[in-house]
Amino acid sequence: MNKSNTTEKYTYERPDVKRAISGRMKILHKLNNEKSYSTRDLYNEWVVLKDKWNLHLTLCSIHSSKDYSDEYWIHELEYLSQSGIELNKIDIQITDSFLKRGRIGDLSKYIGNTALKRFKSKTSSFEKDALEIAEYRSIQDWIDYRNSLKFRIQGKIMNIHNLFMMLYSTKRNERKSAYNLITKSFSNDRINNILNRLIHIRDEISKFSSFDNYEELVESESFRDWDYKEAFYFKELVKEFIVPILMDVQIRKSRKLNIRTLENYDDNIFFKSGNPKIKGKQEVILKKCIDSLSEFTNEDIANYAKDMFDNNLIDAAKRKYKTHGAYCWPIDGTDDSYILINMLNNNDLPETFFHEFGHAIHFHYSSDYHIHELRKSSREILEIPSISLELFSQEVFHKFYGKESENKKIIHIISLLTLICKICILDDWQRIIYRNPNMSQEDRNIFWENAEKEFTPWLTPNPERWKHDYTIFESPFYDLDYGIATICSLQLWIEYKEDKKSTLKKYLKLCSLGGKKGFQETLKYVKLENPFNRKTFKKISKELKTFLEKY
Ligand SMILES: [Zn+2]
Repeated sequence: MNKSNTTEKYTYERPDVKRAISGRMKILHKLNNEKSYSTRDLYNEWVVLKDKWNLHLTLCSIHSSKDYSDEYWIHELEYLSQSGIELNKIDIQITDSFLKRGRIGDLSKYIGNTALKRFKSKTSSFEKDALEIAEYRSIQDWIDYRNSLKFRIQGKIMNIHNLFMMLYSTKRNERKSAYNLITKSFSNDRINNILNRLIHIRDEISKFSSFDNYEELVESESFRDWDYKEAFYFKELVKEFIVPILMDVQIRKSRKLNIRTLENYDDNIFFKSGNPKIKGKQEVILKKCIDSLSEFTNEDIANYAKDMFDNNLIDAAKRKYKTHGAYCWPIDGTDDSYILINMLNNNDLPETFFHEFGHAIHFHYSSDYHIHELRKSSREILEIPSISLELFSQEVFHKFYGKESENKKIIHIISLLTLICKICILDDWQRIIYRNPNMSQEDRNIFWENAEKEFTPWLTPNPERWKHDYTIFESPFYDLDYGIATICSLQLWIEYKEDKKSTLKKYLKLCSLGGKKGFQETLKYVKLENPFNRKTFKKISKELKTFLEKY
């Protein structure tokens, strides 16, 4: 095959589904009929089989996102997802057999309570297959619609991503026309219908699993050790501490930009000459990012980045049919990850790279764990290593932004705080619409508007702004985890500025823990303050206020 099917270190080979099935059937047979096989050995055997299959599935997904127009990978992905349905059915039977009397005691002794909880969650997904396919199709509908949008501006054809980039223009009239075009192109029933369909499908999925609504299902599946009450309190603290800081930023911004009444289309811009820019080619900037790691982390981390780069595990080049955005995927059964970055411009490339590389460090230090369910942590923990590394990297911003590096740091912090507020809107709103699946679209829009008034009072409320956000469609309820992780990362950032060495030690302790403990237990273990606590917010906001006086 002359197709490039390798990342140099890992080569994709189509796994044999018959062999994968027979391997699993043997385990199932031993589980059900032969008591002489130890639960521990059978569990380990099964983990090896799953890793083998998932390794090639991940490699295939990676190749496909590097070039989504390539028929070969489309075909392979189709084969793997069809075969995956078969394997999933057997995996559910295996899961059930492990949970039978005679096995469950040994299993729980071996993998522990946290893993057992995650293990049990896989049993009920069997009947949900058809609904999950319907959900996937609706998400695809939304992605297709977004990608199909084309605009002719000043003789050039632009897509929706280009339009969002125009919101960063230094020319106010350009920002205004981009904002109006985005609002207009999203203001139609097609997106309302997709959302409505998704709400009802997700409601049915949750009822299948004996939950009252989708909110409850997400709470249970995300293995949170906090619930809606803590979430509510967290959002109250955001209102009390973070919103006033950003209101003050608006007053300063209005003076800086010399605009008396700031409008929604001014939201992304903070300096009259525009936000700080980076000059130079992508490859050169990426190389600089990797080289600078030894300056603000340690040799081990810096060498790991070099190793990933040498093994083609970091792809930041611009290509036409490459998936837009950035991700870091752990490669199953190994301690490596793959990082893909595809941005419209390079201005945020360093923080994007450091964010994704933070995930890679996390996976690298925790992936060797033999208990499958505990390798990956829950989502609030997952985002701490990435957001923290972004924040630590402020130390080397001068290498990228020169004289503008202080301005870049200010924007970095303001953006993180603004995101926390927007996340609270998303969380509040999604809880309401999934608790009341039959609510009318008008009412959904009113609730959105009300949430905007509370968490982003500096903006003119836009009842349809929810249409700008992809997580509502693609990964509902993900958002609050990100906000919670940001509050934890800000604590590490404050500590890092005081004592780099000990903070890095703490950082790596958190990374090596992976998903072995729940969120609040993890915080206690690494000595981070709880983000559901008023004192934590009070302390952080004091630091933030002092920092933002520079603006
Ligand atoms: Zn992330």
